[in-house]
Amino acid sequence: MFRVGVDLGGTNIVAAVVDDSYHIVSKISSRTRPGRDAESICGDIGADVAAAVRSAGLTPQEISGFGIGSCGMVNAAEGVLIRASNLDFTQVPLRQILYEKTGYWFQCENDANAAAWGEYIAGAGRGTNSFMELTLGTGIGGSLIVNGMIYEGAGYEGGEFGHTVIVQDGEPCPCGRRGCLEAYASASALIRDARRAMALRPDSRLWKLCGRDPAHMDAKMVFDARSAGDAAAEEVIQRYLVSLGTGIANFIRMLQPEVLCIGGGISNQGQPLIDEIEQIMAEREFNGNRDRITILRIAELGEDAGVIGAAFLHRSRNSNVSRF
Ligand SMILES: [Zn+2]
Repeated sequence: MFRVGVDLGGTNIVAAVVDDSYHIVSKISSRTRPGRDAESICGDIGADVAAAVRSAGLTPQEISGFGIGSCGMVNAAEGVLIRASNLDFTQVPLRQILYEKTGYWFQCENDANAAAWGEYIAGAGRGTNSFMELTLGTGIGGSLIVNGMIYEGAGYEGGEFGHTVIVQDGEPCPCGRRGCLEAYASASALIRDARRAMALRPDSRLWKLCGRDPAHMDAKMVFDARSAGDAAAEEVIQRYLVSLGTGIANFIRMLQPEVLCIGGGISNQGQPLIDEIEQIMAEREFNGNRDRITILRIAELGEDAGVIGAAFLHRSRNSNVSRF
């Protein structure tokens, strides 16, 4: 049995054929080229899906279902993209347009939720009932899955864990508030803080790593500089980890999921990142309780989580199975 999962982002469209062991059989990607209308983008999705099916050596009749994770806010039940600022879409009937363009019904979800669903069924959340993911990238994505149901919120804006305030009147956040976790623990926040530290430390190795141009700084360079013994990078990362640990401790206090998974670009640091967060949380007794239940894990599926999760959205209790 094969299914198709699509990831619609502001930069790329990815369509993949996934088998029932969650292995990707084929994958096709194309540029989203935002600024176009939904019909045009959905037409490209249809072409990518057809190409992925062909590339897998299959016929469309051999595909048993379709799903899509889209950037923006998605009404999963009705398949409507409520708002996606990086595509300049509001109230786009995504499922309807995809049906008109491809002839297939797609399960629809927000992309962070689709990726978390992928981890829940096939990655770091396998075998758990309650699972939470924080995606540490340009921003901070968040998803919560409980008993096989993706928590959407009453108006599809729930689970925005990155926009919980950890510092009152703190750093400005793209959401308009100040002091959000995203403004301290996203990759963008790490880079901002590294640039500030460089400005004060002309001797920092960070200058060399970014080719003496702070505009070229990325999160990995900050971790690399620290590994090489750079004091400025060490301070920046220590502060970063304390912020992240504070946020995680809050979520564990609120939700106590079985597994809290860290995904996104920062998660490329792997298990050492988890070990350090654990250590910071233990030192500061954020948990209060030394027999903490929640296990912290690095996401396992990488960039494929979104398409794998999208392909199997029909297994979530959110899905409208009567349509299939
Ligand atoms: Zn915010």
